[in-house]
Amino acid sequence: MYLELNTDITDEQRAIREVTHQFARDRLRPVSMQLDAMEADEVIAGDSPLWDIFAEWYSQGNHLIFISENEGGMGAGPVEKYLVYEELGWGAVDLGISLAVSAFPFTYAARYGTLLNRPSLHEEILAPFLEDREGKVRGCWAITEPAHGSDTLGPGFESFRQRDAAGSCRAVKDGGDWIINGQKSSWVSNGTIATHACLFCTIDPDKGMAGGGVALVPLDLPGVSRGKPWQKIGQRGLPQGEIFFDDVRIPERYMIVEGDRYEATVEATIAGANAGMGALFTGVARAALEEAIAYSRERVQGGRVISEHQLVQHILFEMFSRVESARQLSRAAMAYNDTPNPPSVEHSIASKVVCTRTAFEVSSDAIQVFGATGLTRGMPIEKFLRDARMSLIEDGVNELLGLVAGNHLSQVYELS
Ligand SMILES: Cc1cc2nc3c(=O)[nH]c(=O)nc-3n(C[C@H](O)[C@H](O)[C@H](O)COP(=O)(O)OP(=O)(O)OC[C@H]3O[C@@H](n4cnc5c(N)ncnc54)[C@H](O)[C@@H]3O)c2cc1C
Repeated sequence: MYLELNTDITDEQRAIREVTHQFARDRLRPVSMQLDAMEADEVIAGDSPLWDIFAEWYSQGNHLIFISENEGGMGAGPVEKYLVYEELGWGAVDLGISLAVSAFPFTYAARYGTLLNRPSLHEEILAPFLEDREGKVRGCWAITEPAHGSDTLGPGFESFRQRDAAGSCRAVKDGGDWIINGQKSSWVSNGTIATHACLFCTIDPDKGMAGGGVALVPLDLPGVSRGKPWQKIGQRGLPQGEIFFDDVRIPERYMIVEGDRYEATVEATIAGANAGMGALFTGVARAALEEAIAYSRERVQGGRVISEHQLVQHILFEMFSRVESARQLSRAAMAYNDTPNPPSVEHSIASKVVCTRTAFEVSSDAIQVFGATGLTRGMPIEKFLRDARMSLIEDGVNELLGLVAGNHLSQVYELS
């Protein structure tokens, strides 16, 4: 276990980290290596070890870490949440994301059930998730579409409000119901295995993307169908795929955001998701650093283990410095977002961009330390590189996110 620079971590928090670390080391890492070598449809087949991971995670109530105590969850603080995220990312970021995004619609059901005073959201959507100890109630965040990727994640941009930017997955009011038609992209994480979606769709196309709404949609409703499991270069243990909606009818109460609140909701969601990504990919960067250190102590060249060569020591130091910097930023961003203040968009995006870039570059440096051995299929280190490469696009292309944060800085950032 690494040296903890933050001296105010409590014994209880250390214990949470240790338990999650053991799960990450003994279960997530080996199972994700196994899933990495399988085809996308095998990953979600009935006999896949993916289901064991879900069952083990839920059996101890770990999925409740993302729900506040007064809404029936664990009531974990920001430090506990951060430590769990980093360890999940350290073990296997693909499975870590799958487990974390599973809670997504239920955190919204919890929050909006209280905010809008709609107890039915707690009873009908949240309760089954709270009670689940088998990993059978799983969520996803469905926002991007085949023709709208970055378009969906650009709140604050003029183009977000233009009519021709409107999404094609639409919700239309019909008496006391909403009827949904359209599809979400093949990149929806957990799209093929989720029982519930937090669906970001279009209500008023005249307002472009800004005319959107957020609905909680049980995915066993008539008219819902799925695409085939998506094949990709990394994060292969994370099931992804399209969701199609064909005249899917939901009650009015499941539409939790509409009208002028949509753009601000997208912004807050980007902040929350990006802060989580920062923590998860700090874990990937740390895992790559540790692999490189361990290998450098074994590999002999020039008559000595390569860790004794100053060149290698320097590479390790550079990697270490970047991991620690990523950790401090991502931990602080996540802690801030957990306060009653509105989340900080620019800090959260900075965290995601810095940490994913760090994970990618540190994984690449680690392969340099491994030499050709690091390029071998089936080595954790080459999987880290592929997983990290995905993250530069995941939850928003990094450059595009930088524009969202830059736009914020130019307009609302307070100067001292
Ligand atoms: C691993 C992974 C997990 C994902 N999980 C989810 C999920 O859970 N739910 C979900 O809905 N989606 C998910 N996505 C989709 C993801 O959010 C999109 O891939 C991402 O937002 C980029 O969209 P795109 O791929 O369509 O690229 P595009 O938007 O087509 O971008 C292509 C290029 O054009 C540039 N570009 C685009 N717009 C502009 C602009 N206005 N100005 C300047 N340059 C621009 C981009 O920077 C990029 O370089 C996931 C993606 C990945 C890779």
